[in-house]
Amino acid sequence: KGMDPGAGAQQKASSSPPLPRQNTKTRPPSPPKVISDKSGRMHFNRVGFLGEGGFARVYEVQDQKGSHLACKVVTKSALKTKKAKTKLYAEIKIHRSLDHPNIVTFLECFEDEENVYMTLELCPSGSLMDMLRRRRRFTEPETRFFMVQLIGACHYMHAHQVIHRDLKLGNLFLDANMNVKVGDFGLAALIENPGERKKTICGTPNYIAPEVLFDTANGHSFEVDIWSIGVILYTLVVGRPPFQTKEVKDIYQRIRDNKYEFPADRRVSSACQLLVQAVLTPNPAERPTLHEIVDHTFFTQGPVPSYIPTSAHDGVPDFK
Ligand code: ADP
Repeated sequence: KGMDPGAGAQQKASSSPPLPRQNTKTRPPSPPKVISDKSGRMHFNRVGFLGEGGFARVYEVQDQKGSHLACKVVTKSALKTKKAKTKLYAEIKIHRSLDHPNIVTFLECFEDEENVYMTLELCPSGSLMDMLRRRRRFTEPETRFFMVQLIGACHYMHAHQVIHRDLKLGNLFLDANMNVKVGDFGLAALIENPGERKKTICGTPNYIAPEVLFDTANGHSFEVDIWSIGVILYTLVVGRPPFQTKEVKDIYQRIRDNKYEFPADRRVSSACQLLVQAVLTPNPAERPTLHEIVDHTFFTQGPVPSYIPTSAHDGVPDFK
């Protein structure tokens, strides 16, 4: 994933299917039915297929105790370059260092001759992207619930010097109780020195902060996740991302011009519109902090449900 121009740029507009990477054109063979590490200490039965992303395929597996987990599989043939290895090791190092109720738990990592495997907490209910497709858009109370959990996870990541850099509905998974689990640390970066700026252009077009695209000299930092949070907030209440359009270059143009509107028929509350406007501030230094976001009237003046019923997958839930 990522849009490193040097490495066969992959650009995903979030609503269109992801472009396949060069190295996934020839589909690698499925992993074995029983996945084991080299020492034979761990065994997992492959029981289903969950999805695939930029360079990984994700399967549902069962461990020796019978628990169901997700297993992310990366074929070693995709790890021939030093750069690809470095990226995978960075993802593993960052993801395994995180432990938060709203972040997909990283369990184990091992390999066999063919593949590298990462077992993860299973999120059996898909992503918020899948749910949005069924629901078209969410009510503001539901949006507050999901946003509070996302912001909590983001605050934890930033406190641990991690920038996710690819926060989007497709990377926000749901557990069986409708809790948000942030996943996919494939583009995450660790800020090792205070004040350090990152220079790699990466992200998903609809969710990319303007400074990533247009201030490459200065680089970017934690504020890019705040921007994505603003895009996510808009998308949950409106039903599509704010800068969405067919051509990726036109999305970038709109991001540069800060050009988006709230469709009148969606009846988005003025508190919500004002919060989106505050978060989607072009200058990263002027963007609100996570604390300021949760202190906004959108969160303080409206109900935040204590949980979301699973019926919400397919229709507006009744909170009464
Ligand atoms: P990549 O890093 O290659 O983009 P992802 O981590 O985004 O891969 O995973 C690809 C797909 O696999 C996801 O879109 C989702 O459908 C599925 N998936 C990933 N992690 C989990 C999980 N923990 N539980 C359930 N499904 C998952």
